[in-house]
Amino acid sequence: MAGKTVGILALQGDFAAHRKAVQRAGGLAVEVRVAAELAQCDGLIIPGGESTTMLKLLDQEALTESIRLFAEHKPVYGSCAGAILLAREVTHPPQPALGLLDITVERNAYGRQIDSRIARLPLNEAIDGGGEMEAVFIRAPIIRRVGGGVTVLASYGGDPVWVEAGRHMVTTFHPELSADSKVHARFLRKL
Ligand code: GLN
Repeated sequence: MAGKTVGILALQGDFAAHRKAVQRAGGLAVEVRVAAELAQCDGLIIPGGESTTMLKLLDQEALTESIRLFAEHKPVYGSCAGAILLAREVTHPPQPALGLLDITVERNAYGRQIDSRIARLPLNEAIDGGGEMEAVFIRAPIIRRVGGGVTVLASYGGDPVWVEAGRHMVTTFHPELSADSKVHARFLRKL
């Protein structure tokens, strides 16, 4: 991990908080706005924000295909809207996605009344032997289906909220908004 650089997709959303979270976890972070900037990155984080807006901006910058190619060899982590962009299938409503993990996500699935909250998550034993961590959910999607080869690292209310498949990882919550560095530390170990 030492000397490795994480790109943070900085078209829209809370990329600045991810940059700080990567630094807290001991990594180097650079903001990525155009495809050429991916060349210096060992991994990429797609932040939370609005997935429909991010999709439009990705197409405008011709970044969609560049990220797909990047992901063939390097790890990508998506949080919340980023998780929606990394999924194989998106519902409510359906929209295109990069398909880097075999999961189906339903957008804005917690409904209006309780669409944002801070929860305590019990963790899979694979994460530092278990325990709990804080999770901030903001108009989060729900992962409705995980394919074979996808490992669930944490669930909330019976639904997976932190999963990984090979080098790629998603959370439906925002670890960049909590002091706990477990999620970013795990991503840095994939680089
Ligand atoms: N509701 C947003 C979407 O569907 C995601 C929200 C977030 O990233 N906090 O794209």
